[in-house]
Amino acid sequence: MSARIEIASEAGACYGVERALRMVEDAAKSSEVPVHTLGPLIHNPRVVSGLAEKGVTVVSSPEESAGDTLLLRTHGVTPDEERRARELCHEVLDATCPFVKKVHQAAARLAREGYQVVVVGEAGHPEVEATLPHAPGAVVVGSADEAAALPSCKKIGVVVQTTQSRANLEKVVAALLGRAEEVRVVNTICDATSGHQGACAELAARTDVMVVIGGRISANTKRLAEIASGLCPRTHHIEGADELDPSWFDGAELVGITAGASTPASQIAAVRTAIESIVA
Ligand code: SF4
Repeated sequence: MSARIEIASEAGACYGVERALRMVEDAAKSSEVPVHTLGPLIHNPRVVSGLAEKGVTVVSSPEESAGDTLLLRTHGVTPDEERRARELCHEVLDATCPFVKKVHQAAARLAREGYQVVVVGEAGHPEVEATLPHAPGAVVVGSADEAAALPSCKKIGVVVQTTQSRANLEKVVAALLGRAEEVRVVNTICDATSGHQGACAELAARTDVMVVIGGRISANTKRLAEIASGLCPRTHHIEGADELDPSWFDGAELVGITAGASTPASQIAAVRTAIESIVA
């Protein structure tokens, strides 16, 4: 068995995740009190357990971190959680990605201007949950069918979970056009997401096998796996090299690798090395 391996031109840890990891590593080294993250810092279980080994634990409320240092995760937190954290904690470090903050700001602006705010995204996802309180009355829509079922209103303002696919956004907006006289769209899909998805599609269209690395609950990794599967039926979503099955690569000439925005370069390198040893 011999195959070439190619990594997507844009893959792996994004600006927001690298920034958050730098902040937590610095805090773990310098803080005189215990360091916690409010929810998992990023949706990558292997990175989160690596942080636990350095003493950084996950808490589910600011009250559990009273008197300690608390990092607000990349996905953002609700304004109420942030207020309680600042009241109770020794120090609060805000690792909310600046692209997520843009979603909050856009949602708040649209609500102030009288739009019925629609957040295109996954209901229950931490980023979406943190966005909703910024726009009172906002609703979450995940698909064109859900958009078509919304009650009619005068004007709808749309913001988008940063990790949604543009294809889904376009379908939802097309459905919303029938629900209001005015539909205003602020496309808040982040640059890293667009870049990763474009590079993933370009590579998946040419490969025999695609391997997508990232947390199973990571929204942006799931989007990459969906995009890759549509273009390359032999697509596999894994969290680490130990999940690779040698039979996946039978007869393959080109193996593509991509990785979600919460996947550090070291995890991509480990998977590449493991695939090399299978297909050599
Ligand atoms: Fe920020 Fe985008 Fe990375 Fe999310 S995927 S942390 S929004 S840069």
